[in-house]
Amino acid sequence: MNKLKMASEKSASRVLMLLSQLERLNEEPKVSDNDAIRQTTGKILHLIQTQEKTRKEVASKSSGGMEIILSSLENTQDLQTTLNILAILNELLTVGGGCRTGVFVSKGGTALLLQLLVGSSKDPPANEELMLHIHSLLVKVGLKDRKLGVKARLNGALNVTLNLVKYNLQNHKLLLPCLQVLRVYSSNLVNAVSLGKSGTLEIMFEIIGPFSKKSTTLLKVALDTLASLLKSGMNARRAVDRGYLPTLLTIYQDWHRNDTRHRHVVIRKSILGCIKNLTNIKLGRKAFIDANGMRILYNTSTECLPVRTLDPLVNTSSLIMRKCFPKNRLPLPTIKSVFHHPLLHIPASGPVAKLYNQPPGVDDVVDESDENEATEVDTENDTEYDEDETGPKTQNDDIETDINKLRPIQMNTRPFDELRAYEYFFREFSENFELHRPIIIPTTPSSLGPQNRRPPQEDLLTPKPDESPLELDSISISKRPEGTSDPDLVCSLGRLVLDDEGGEQAVLEVPDTAALLPLHDPDLYLEMVKSTRSVPAYTEVGYPDYFGHVALNLREPILERVYGVQRTKIFQDIERLIHPSDILDKVVYDLDNQSCPVTDNGESLKFNSKFESGNLRKAIQVRKFEYDLILNSDINSNHYHQWFYFEVGNMRPGVRYRFNIINCEKSNSQFNYGMQVLMYSVQDAINGSPHWVRTGSDICYYKNHFSRSSIAAGGQKGKSYFTLTFTVTFQHKDDVCYFAYHYPYTYSMLKMHLQKLSALRTAQIYYRQDDLCETLGGNSCPLLTITAMPGSSSNDPISQFRSRPVVFLSARVHPGETNSSWVMKGTLEYLMSCSPQAQSLRESYIFKIIPMLNPDGVINGNHRCSLSGEDLNRQWQNPNAELHPTIYHAKSLLQYLRATGRTPLVFCDYHGHSRKKNVFMYGCSIKETVWQTNVNTSTCDLHEDLGYRTLPKLLSQMAPAFSLSSCSFVVERSKEATARVVVWREIGVQRSYTMESTLCGCDQGKYKGLQIGTSELEEMGAQFCLALLRLKRFTSPLELHNHNSHLLDMETDLIETRSIPNITSPTTYVLEEDEPAFLEEVDYSAESNDEIDPDLEHDLQDNHAPQTPILTQTSGKESG
Ligand SMILES: [Zn+2]
Repeated sequence: MNKLKMASEKSASRVLMLLSQLERLNEEPKVSDNDAIRQTTGKILHLIQTQEKTRKEVASKSSGGMEIILSSLENTQDLQTTLNILAILNELLTVGGGCRTGVFVSKGGTALLLQLLVGSSKDPPANEELMLHIHSLLVKVGLKDRKLGVKARLNGALNVTLNLVKYNLQNHKLLLPCLQVLRVYSSNLVNAVSLGKSGTLEIMFEIIGPFSKKSTTLLKVALDTLASLLKSGMNARRAVDRGYLPTLLTIYQDWHRNDTRHRHVVIRKSILGCIKNLTNIKLGRKAFIDANGMRILYNTSTECLPVRTLDPLVNTSSLIMRKCFPKNRLPLPTIKSVFHHPLLHIPASGPVAKLYNQPPGVDDVVDESDENEATEVDTENDTEYDEDETGPKTQNDDIETDINKLRPIQMNTRPFDELRAYEYFFREFSENFELHRPIIIPTTPSSLGPQNRRPPQEDLLTPKPDESPLELDSISISKRPEGTSDPDLVCSLGRLVLDDEGGEQAVLEVPDTAALLPLHDPDLYLEMVKSTRSVPAYTEVGYPDYFGHVALNLREPILERVYGVQRTKIFQDIERLIHPSDILDKVVYDLDNQSCPVTDNGESLKFNSKFESGNLRKAIQVRKFEYDLILNSDINSNHYHQWFYFEVGNMRPGVRYRFNIINCEKSNSQFNYGMQVLMYSVQDAINGSPHWVRTGSDICYYKNHFSRSSIAAGGQKGKSYFTLTFTVTFQHKDDVCYFAYHYPYTYSMLKMHLQKLSALRTAQIYYRQDDLCETLGGNSCPLLTITAMPGSSSNDPISQFRSRPVVFLSARVHPGETNSSWVMKGTLEYLMSCSPQAQSLRESYIFKIIPMLNPDGVINGNHRCSLSGEDLNRQWQNPNAELHPTIYHAKSLLQYLRATGRTPLVFCDYHGHSRKKNVFMYGCSIKETVWQTNVNTSTCDLHEDLGYRTLPKLLSQMAPAFSLSSCSFVVERSKEATARVVVWREIGVQRSYTMESTLCGCDQGKYKGLQIGTSELEEMGAQFCLALLRLKRFTSPLELHNHNSHLLDMETDLIETRSIPNITSPTTYVLEEDEPAFLEEVDYSAESNDEIDPDLEHDLQDNHAPQTPILTQTSGKESG
């Protein structure tokens, strides 16, 4: 033991001795020392080859071995010494991980090697052993030194290696390391272009083909090099011109056929990598189609599907096929909405004028350059973002950095005389309550617009018994006896038709939802429908809206995404191209063609959406049990579709039907993260289960091959559409089922609910409904005032009444966000309830509520806009009285309140969010906005009350669906015209919010893992009220003056428990896309060496003057 240790110490010290000997020789170089150096390096090499301890000794920092060796390499002119040293280095760097290589690189080893390489290539033939050593070392260096490629180019080493490859194609021993180095070089885009010009592509193809299982290592390196080279568009064009794409496909097929035991999956993957990069250019995609690439990759992939380890091949193939799938326009005469609503005044620069001034046939242009070639690689994994919900890439640019735009606007933009007209909507402030008489609050009938507003008269809301409510001769409604089932009755389910002419006599059983739903009444609903004005003049009623929806008393978990669903669906889509004869292509529903469907052979489903909030434009049967569905654009627009609501009939039970909505627009959706569509079965409803139910399997959402031209897309680059696909098995024969994006909530339903709510009024409740204005479509926009009647116990009840702070609430500016209406319903029901807290809340505030800011959009099945073709929540800065009446008058109400010193305590606009889970709020804070930017503004002089945080904090403590960590208080530029920001800046409401509710479900709290339902949404609305009640304690000046210091402490506490945000805090700056990417899509660029260092390239472009010491040395040596 001791002897051994001594021996090893002895040898270790021997190496150190040799090193110091070498160091001395380096210091005084003489020609006569050549032999000595040669001998010393030879001895060191021998020791190193035999003992790992010696290697450690040399590589250790303390010995300075690396410096001494490099210094010898730099100084020597002797070939044998050079070879010795290179051998030593190869031994050293082979083991010890990347650590030793790191030391080597940091001591300038890379430059020395490159200089040596270039220097020794000057007098050919080059010494083979030397070249072998140098390249073996460069391969190792390439793993550590990211700048190797650039250094090599600047040293003029690219062609040296390339020439070695060219002239040693049969000499595999030397070829392999040289190729490996070439692979590293070509990962740099500038190098790739230069190497391509020097004929590298052609050389790679000599190595790659024809198929042979010999030297697979070499083949793999050549393929990877080729793949890197093909990332350059210039090289890709060159390759296509030389006909390499069919060659690659042939080689891929050869490998597919011969690699039966799947031992060379990496090689097959590399071939696909080359094809993938080639098809990034338009020319490459064309060559791929011409070479029958779709069928080849489809067939090979289908054969690979059963073997899970071949997934990478299938995924890359699928990616290539999707990319090359010929772009198509939607099968529509125009993508403009089927329905047009003439506007009295069309601003020349507005979207409607632009849309209808577009040259004819603009829709026909399919923009093949869709995702432009430079960015295509990045966008193909479906991570692009659309304009209204900006993604992380653009979000930092979106933060408002202009401090003046964050400060409140102090000027009064409108003269008070103009605002005085709005006094009418605040009659409660001037009313003289006569406390001892029963009070009837005047309410205007909901059908009246502001023009023909009548003076307050008798209560119109009480139904008059002798007035015939309906003219529905075509339908006789009878209650079904308990427990009986009559299938014939169900078969006779006709449509609910409102006009009484020519309708078939149908016997309809109505589920007794009225008993279960206190605010629902089918008869009343029909009555409401009659005064609702739609652009298509609907005469039918959706059964779910008529019967009503009772919340399911059942948990509906968020679906787990099944691996490979998307792939399967995409393959089925690709099959259409490969086996076109299998496709029926039968149009079964078409709003553009009123004569459709022509005949009914009983084999196809029947579709319909001609009822309020319905949105289906066209249905095409593509296979026996598969349908493509197209949604209508928002009226007076050519896009904005995402919301859907339609009816399906004539189904066969027990069969799996696949539905594809093929013109969705958002780039991602919660349908990829466990959200299901909603279905309502009329048979189930009649049998006592009137529920919207989450349904569907094999759900996914992906970019498809339909696109529209950039002109039609309003100047944006041509956009692809997305497919939402889901599969449903119907339970009943001859059922009528409805599908919806989210729980429908129509305008007529709102009117019905308001009537029912007004009936809940008691002597304590002050409830008044006004018509704020008439919409473009001729519907009224209800405005509610809810508070408590003046109390009689107080000394001056009227003055208490009038001093109550105002809370201003609104919802449903975006028609597709029906969840916001359900939250609003919860709020309204709570406010009208008789609980002591509700009474206390009414006594604390005066509520001004606009439950539906966009009735026309809701009625006509729009997703985002009003009839002006515009997003109303982008009009708050400068609303136009004619084009945006609801926004104009809502803002006027707020301006009136401000002008009369009654600026609301809280403003909140309810919304729905399609891409996030939970419920959360957006608020406004100067400080938090400034903190998010790197603007050099001293934040010390910004005084800001932190009260805006209290309400979200309270909600997070009370409402199970609410998530504080998703809240954000940053003011974005793109949101400067939204209600939240304008009410904050212009009206001066500090607590101005957007409350966003998920369409999907929750990932925290009591409802974690569950999809959201109407009862959770309504509960949210009620919890919002309770939070307002608690907020009172923090805001009431009276109570604060009473020195309730503990309350102040509580507020401080509330604020402090939420940590002060910093730049990286996820709690204050929320990414819209907070879901992970899908496993099956991540594998797009699994190649190990395809990183291009853009910074590096940038440096090079900007700075031609060499600045590294390496370069000075090089030029010195060359000139000398
Ligand atoms: Zn919204």
